[in-house]
Amino acid sequence: MKHNFGAGPGILPQEVFKQAAAAVLDFNATGLSLLEISHRSPEFEEVLNEAVALVKELFNVPEGYSVLFLQGGASTQFALAPYNLLPEGGKAAYLDSGVWASKAIKEAKFFGTTEVVATSKESNYTYIPKDYTVPADAAYFHITSNNTIYGTQLQEFPQSPVPLVCDMSSDIFSRKVNIADFGLIYAGAQKNMGPAGVTLVIVKDDLLGKTSRKIPAMFNYQVQIEGGSMYNTPPCFAIYVSMLTLKWLKAKGGVEAMEKDNNEKARVLYEEIDRNPLFKAVAATEDRSRMNVCFVMENPELEKPFLKLCDEKGIVGIKGHRSVGGFRASIYNALPITSVYVLIDTMREFAEKNK
Ligand code: PMP
Repeated sequence: MKHNFGAGPGILPQEVFKQAAAAVLDFNATGLSLLEISHRSPEFEEVLNEAVALVKELFNVPEGYSVLFLQGGASTQFALAPYNLLPEGGKAAYLDSGVWASKAIKEAKFFGTTEVVATSKESNYTYIPKDYTVPADAAYFHITSNNTIYGTQLQEFPQSPVPLVCDMSSDIFSRKVNIADFGLIYAGAQKNMGPAGVTLVIVKDDLLGKTSRKIPAMFNYQVQIEGGSMYNTPPCFAIYVSMLTLKWLKAKGGVEAMEKDNNEKARVLYEEIDRNPLFKAVAATEDRSRMNVCFVMENPELEKPFLKLCDEKGIVGIKGHRSVGGFRASIYNALPITSVYVLIDTMREFAEKNK
């Protein structure tokens, strides 16, 4: 058995893999594979409708918001957010809390002026910048809820005088979120919500149509809303697997139950990192992520042998991002706490051997 701590595409529930595999062979006893049916068939429309309904239910999405399943990953949304929300000649505010945030800023510059209200680049993004003012004349304020590479996470969302736009790629559905506080949320599915190939977008309808920019159909949220995420052929299989994952999440008690489990997984793991003399956490204590737990070794020479021991124990995907080094244990929704205990036991065993 493997314990998958990979940062993404990441672990999904075993039962989802089984259901998805069965649907590839015979979808809902139709005698056809899910991969060969029309996206306009009533069977697939039901899948998409259910996926949208589950997002709305699990996140308590209020009236006036649209839920979309698009393609192109979160990186496409870096451009589509300003494309759709930034009036010509307008300005957008950004919090630079990591490489993904800075890529979002780079894309926004194609469409207007950007104001970076604060950055933690000087410390290689080990903390979330906190003292800043969001300009009231910005079209929106863009934040990244969880910084996958550095293991930092916004513990609370900032108050903003302008609509909040949030990249939630690496902590979507891991904790409660008040959707009404946001103008736009987007997330690549491949960490907590489903497989790679589909991107969730939740957008407040009344923010649209405020730019005189001409937007090509595929990049236009309004067109995608009118087409019900089916302006063109949607990523049917990725949507199906996301729907199954959301169903699993609901059966587990929803976002609230996930948040509780995730907090406990993070608590026990950070406790071990803080206690064990061989390891130290990367992120500022108050900003520690409950999704990606990044840590290094006091003695870097021990990193290779530790990775080897992890490998022997079936622990995979734990190597840190190349820009941070060390280790990153991603403890997404589907990772059971028993896997976290295996990692903790391995850290203890290693410390015992290397006293
Ligand atoms: N934002 C964050 C926070 C991410 O972690 C990632 C992927 N690791 C991205 C954006 C980019 O996502 P995608 O690969 O779906 O474009």
